[in-house]
Amino acid sequence: TSDRPVVTRFAPSPTGYLHIGGARTALFNWLYARGRGGKFLLRIEDTDRERSTPEAHAAILRGMKWLGLDYDGEAVSQFERAPRHAEVAHDMLSNGRAYKCFSTQDEIQAFRDQAKEDGRSTLFQSPWRDVAAADHPDLPYVIRVKAPRDGETVIRDQVQGDVTFKNSTLDDMICLRSDGTPTYMLAVVVDDHDMGVTHVIRGDDHLANAARQTMVYEAMGWDVPVWAHIPLIHGQDGKKLSKRHGALGAEEYKAMGYPAAAMRNYLARLGWSHGDDEFFSDTQALEWFDFNGIGKGAARFDFKKLENLSGQH
Ligand code: GLU
Repeated sequence: TSDRPVVTRFAPSPTGYLHIGGARTALFNWLYARGRGGKFLLRIEDTDRERSTPEAHAAILRGMKWLGLDYDGEAVSQFERAPRHAEVAHDMLSNGRAYKCFSTQDEIQAFRDQAKEDGRSTLFQSPWRDVAAADHPDLPYVIRVKAPRDGETVIRDQVQGDVTFKNSTLDDMICLRSDGTPTYMLAVVVDDHDMGVTHVIRGDDHLANAARQTMVYEAMGWDVPVWAHIPLIHGQDGKKLSKRHGALGAEEYKAMGYPAAAMRNYLARLGWSHGDDEFFSDTQALEWFDFNGIGKGAARFDFKKLENLSGQH
């Protein structure tokens, strides 16, 4: 992967305005790609039809525009790619890395209850996994990816180091639901692969997903991207950042008159550092930004710093 030109992406779910965490993720991806002559792509993860709204979609685009985070090409709609996701699920069926599971919710529940009673792992183990080419034209089914039964999956993360997941904790995850729609876990991998993404830079709340997503990369024989899971942002009280801490949406800072350059500087310093430098230009940020400068602990949000920075720009 190292000799391929860098391709990063920002993949927000359009369920709300562009918040501090999302804006920082977008900025890190933008800095990493633009600083290396690579591409920065945008994918709107609008598969959740209940929660996605056109207003949120528009607000994210406006926020990025204000921050100067320009992306290459057209924004990709994940929802519109559902037929492609289904195609990949069927490819995995054909190559024997996935299977049709006809178990009903009741059967799955019964399995779990029994496992609990026996003191075994309650991860569902489908009886259909090892039934060769099972087909019951009249019954609904989901498609599950075969998880490795033993061993470990190691995520070589650029920020967190090597993170090991025991394969016994991975279940045969559903990639296609009984109504033929893809799960989030499948859609992300197919989209990242098809978009040619080389580096996945995102919040570390997605770290465990990386282990499950690796199953799809392996089943398809695709190159796994370089992972960089960045620590979440916390408020001064050490709790996950929220409005309670005074954190606002990108556009609200704009309305309050903060310059976009100060905001970029501030966001870059949330979890990333370059020596003791507090203030830097865009040119410096582009030149300096790398994974080494990202701390392993949660970043702290401090509103006063943004005010100081604004005085400098
Ligand atoms: N849509 C996901 C989110 O907003 C991001 C998924 C990813 O970056 O892989 O949390």
